[in-house]
Amino acid sequence: MAETREFQAESKELLQLMINSIYSNKEIFLRELISNASDAIDKYKYLELTSNGKIPSKNYEIWISKDKNARTLTISDNGIGMTKDELIKNLGTIAHSGSKDFVNKIKEAKEKKDLDIIGQFGVGFYSAFMVADSIEVHTKSINEDQGYVFTSDGKSSYTIDEEDIKDSGTKIVLHIRKSGEDENLDTYFEDYQIESLVKKYSDFVRYPIKMIEVHKEPAKDENGKEIEGKFEEKEEVKTLNSMIPLWKKNKKDVSEDDLNSFYKSNFMDFEDPLLSININVEGIVSFNSLVFIPSHIPYDLYSQNYEKGLKLYIKGIYIKEKAKELVPDYLKFIKGLVDTNDLSLNISREMLQEDSRLKKISETIENKVISNLKELKTNDYEKYLKFYKLYGDHLMYGIYSSYGFKKNLLADLLVFKSLNSDKEIDLKTYKDNMKKDQKVIYYATGKSVEAIKMLPEIEKFKKDGVDVLFLTREIDEFAISMMNEYEKINFQNISSHDNDSLSEEEKSKLNVVEAENKELLDNIKEGLGDKVDKVSLSTKLVDSPVCISTQNGLSLNMEKTINEIPNDEKAKASKVLEINPNHELFKAMAEHKGDKELISKYSSVLYDEAMLLEGFDVEDKATFIKNLNELMLKSLSK
Ligand code: ADP
Repeated sequence: MAETREFQAESKELLQLMINSIYSNKEIFLRELISNASDAIDKYKYLELTSNGKIPSKNYEIWISKDKNARTLTISDNGIGMTKDELIKNLGTIAHSGSKDFVNKIKEAKEKKDLDIIGQFGVGFYSAFMVADSIEVHTKSINEDQGYVFTSDGKSSYTIDEEDIKDSGTKIVLHIRKSGEDENLDTYFEDYQIESLVKKYSDFVRYPIKMIEVHKEPAKDENGKEIEGKFEEKEEVKTLNSMIPLWKKNKKDVSEDDLNSFYKSNFMDFEDPLLSININVEGIVSFNSLVFIPSHIPYDLYSQNYEKGLKLYIKGIYIKEKAKELVPDYLKFIKGLVDTNDLSLNISREMLQEDSRLKKISETIENKVISNLKELKTNDYEKYLKFYKLYGDHLMYGIYSSYGFKKNLLADLLVFKSLNSDKEIDLKTYKDNMKKDQKVIYYATGKSVEAIKMLPEIEKFKKDGVDVLFLTREIDEFAISMMNEYEKINFQNISSHDNDSLSEEEKSKLNVVEAENKELLDNIKEGLGDKVDKVSLSTKLVDSPVCISTQNGLSLNMEKTINEIPNDEKAKASKVLEINPNHELFKAMAEHKGDKELISKYSSVLYDEAMLLEGFDVEDKATFIKNLNELMLKSLSK
């Protein structure tokens, strides 16, 4: 008895979006169905090889056939097939994650006419509804005796019925829609079209994709002589794909184009990768690997559901989609695959995590990725900067999360805009251009380059021509403090309160002026209360009257980032109000030392000013405005 079931609400919505052809490339449906067929054979083959002879071997094949009169296109495989439950679970629900989010993303993309993004979703089987108005799936699982047929018009429901099918496998029959005004769907009945689509998208599928092609040949008489003007049709079985996996080919026979199209058809992307890395390693552990860095951030990279990992094959047999053991966290954006002969097919999935050979492969891949990035940086700096813009924070995260352990590996990949250079420079360039008596690498943090350039404490660096690296991402400063030094030169935040780098002469001069102004400085500290831990005179300022610095290593930006994490423990930076002793304001205030109320008001305004320039909000806005108005009134009524 056929039973009819409804698609889930979200699936329905998605189906409608799909069918109304949001896809610019409808043709990818064939790639999707072939890829499913190939996966299904992979799964069967894996069972066969691990069943100790219980599951028979087969001639693994994928077939495409077409019938122009009936308007059908059929794709079949002799793979693992689907049980009834699997049919319902796999084809009755689209986007198995089932989330609203998924549908919303597609809608958003549609609105923005950003059609490419859709290619990043695993829409798979359902893409066939872009060309078909109904689909039949005939399938029998190796794990169930009964076969089934699933039928749907892709609108709101589908039916499932029992069917006698002998061998395990799946046959998908697409009833191709009539061609529309601006689409020619009849092309899918042409040999050359199918052939070229298979070549384009599925050439490396490891099982033969076969099709019967019909040729017209001159008819012959009994004696084998051609009869003039008479032709007969001849059928020929043709294998459409070359089948050698790209990663098994000799490196020199693999072109950039091959890698690009392989990436696009296997990793759901319409754009070429930013970098392709072809790795063949013979050694303690031998493996072949293709690694790709997408040229845009994978749409779900920052979502909780994102799974890092590389596709794993053992002896050419597909094992799993995402072997996360192969990719360190900080490189989670890479895509690709690994094929090794050195692991046993019987290795359990839990054991994979522990396997030292897999760790070795992972280390090798990590090193290859890093060395390829270094090469890119040397050979094509513009492209490298594009990479860095997309993924630089991940490198920083790599340094931070390894507690600095990876700093030697990654330091030379870091680049920064700086005070003296609008273009990003690396640490070596900074070091090479350091002033003769400069002891540390200076950096400044802020939301943007513009914000950093406004910091009062940068004035002296501008004046002296000393370069300062600009750190504009939250993670940057955490990573840099974890690094601590680059080639034995320490890093120093220009906003840290540090008089150590002053010469003895400068220090003693400062001490004298501080002693002279002790009363005023005490008044200011008293006025500010615990807003600051210290008030001192500064050597960093040129035009500005004050700035805020911090002591003991925790900067204001770090304090802010840490305190944004929901957690009971709050961090507290130790703040210092640094005053420019050469500024007119300071000299004028000195005239009023002792007038605690007045000094308190002025210092409070100066403090807020400094915090604003550091990129923070004024905490007590009411008092700030009241003070400001009072001061204006005073100066106006003079
Ligand atoms: P995806 O392939 O991205 O998982 P699909 O919608 O294409 O998404 O397919 C959903 C699931 O249906 C597959 O993961 C697979 O389990 C099953 N499936 C699809 N086609 C076949 C097939 N030819 N043989 C066996 N199972 C299949």
